[in-house]
Amino acid sequence: MSTVSSTDDLTRATASGLAAAIASGDVSSVEVTQAHLDRMAAVEPAVHAFLHVDGERALAAAAKVDQARAAGETLGPLAGVPVALKDVLTYAGAPTTAGSRVLEGWVPPYDATVTRRMLDAGLVILGKTNLDEFAMGSSTENSAYGPTHNPWDLDRIPGGSGGGSAAALAAFEAPLSIGTDTGGSIRQPASVTGTVGVKPTYGGTSRYGLVALASSLDQPGPCARTVLDAALLHAVIGGHDPLDSTSANAPVPDVVSAARSGDVRGLKIGVVRELGGEGYQPGVEQRFREAVDVLAGLGAEIVEVSCPNFAYALPAYYLILPSEASSNLAKFDGMRFGLRTGDDGSHDAEEVMGLTREAGFGAEVKRRIILGTYALSSGYYDAYYGQAQKVRTLVTRDFESAFAQVDVLVSPSTPGTAFRIGEKVDDPLAMYLNDLCTIPSNLAGNASASFPVGLAPEDGLPVGLQVMAPPLADDRLYRVGAALERALEERWGGPLLAQAPELVVPAVAGGTK
Ligand code: GLN
Repeated sequence: MSTVSSTDDLTRATASGLAAAIASGDVSSVEVTQAHLDRMAAVEPAVHAFLHVDGERALAAAAKVDQARAAGETLGPLAGVPVALKDVLTYAGAPTTAGSRVLEGWVPPYDATVTRRMLDAGLVILGKTNLDEFAMGSSTENSAYGPTHNPWDLDRIPGGSGGGSAAALAAFEAPLSIGTDTGGSIRQPASVTGTVGVKPTYGGTSRYGLVALASSLDQPGPCARTVLDAALLHAVIGGHDPLDSTSANAPVPDVVSAARSGDVRGLKIGVVRELGGEGYQPGVEQRFREAVDVLAGLGAEIVEVSCPNFAYALPAYYLILPSEASSNLAKFDGMRFGLRTGDDGSHDAEEVMGLTREAGFGAEVKRRIILGTYALSSGYYDAYYGQAQKVRTLVTRDFESAFAQVDVLVSPSTPGTAFRIGEKVDDPLAMYLNDLCTIPSNLAGNASASFPVGLAPEDGLPVGLQVMAPPLADDRLYRVGAALERALEERWGGPLLAQAPELVVPAVAGGTK
């Protein structure tokens, strides 16, 4: 007997609980999938986590898992469990927009490696989640298809760029989701929605089939409501991929055992001095400090560590990212994918390209293409792009000397909690500051995650703690995360998300059952 039965609200169960119940026959994958589709029908009008849902395809995939079980096949650890996929990774036959008009109508003929591995493991893909256009942003407001709303407070942002993947979890529309993290797009949404988000070591998960933003920074990763669920998904999607030349040829660290153990006794944890203080919301700092005390109480050794060059990580990132993005986005020219504007016989090819890019890209994307093109132009390359790359080396060295002293580093995941929709859209610099804590790990390529550590007293909104580990030591993230989860849930009397307000949703025809 598993702990989940068909009379339970299946959308509240953990992925590991659902997998066990499906494997033991206590519930079918079809029932589990249908419960999530019903939940979507009820809450999507308010949350808008998804850009595309294919219920029939999901139910057909679920039925296949049920049949395999009935035929006596051994199921994988997440077989039959629904998952939501950020709409920047391809899933053959389903639209991929990357949140942009320029890709509207494009249906990729192939699966991303992350997608393929989930399908091979029997996971059931529910649909594609909303994101800031080409993953540029911290609020999902840059999506060409309208913003996603934070289930904790529908007037607030769910983070970005992967706000859809995080909101789908927090609104109980999916027990698992996939995000991508270039500067914080998994960890910041996790932080502001009270969920778990992991950016694996660069090269630890494949970028094949990911619409590239900045190729030297992008990394797909698991998002979930529990630490163990994230680890189980990490194990499914991780590992070497010959189709990605930057894929690490190394085994996936044993993240599942680490998540089950949660033993931090003797672990040396460094608190990054530079990631705190002025500009950080008091309630965020308070919950962060309390969580560090919890880890100390569990037997971890806490020391303060200085990473002086982290102060320059944000400006360096905002030169490196636009430079790479300006190059990666050159292929959206109206000739190869999606939108084509002005092809009426009166314009030559170059004009059509210009008209398509003018119509198809939003303001933030244009801003970054212009910035990146400038930073890479001859005469300015050394002063901007070259200089930023030197800073990147200094940030990496800070990590190296920190990891010579400690096993992991910790900081708040974000300087503040979820802000109001509209509050920062006209102020790019204020928006960029959301990534202050997360960007250093992307520049250095090490593993990093955000775990929920409570609600800020001043606004009652979720706070995340970031754990950073050396490259290919992703298992350490899960050890710390599991230790925190166990201790804090005991204190809270259950998961943090149980404290989220019930979503008040407008009645929809054919909605909830
Ligand atoms: N918010 C960051 C940015 O706008 C992070 C993006 C990301 O991780 N995809 O660049």
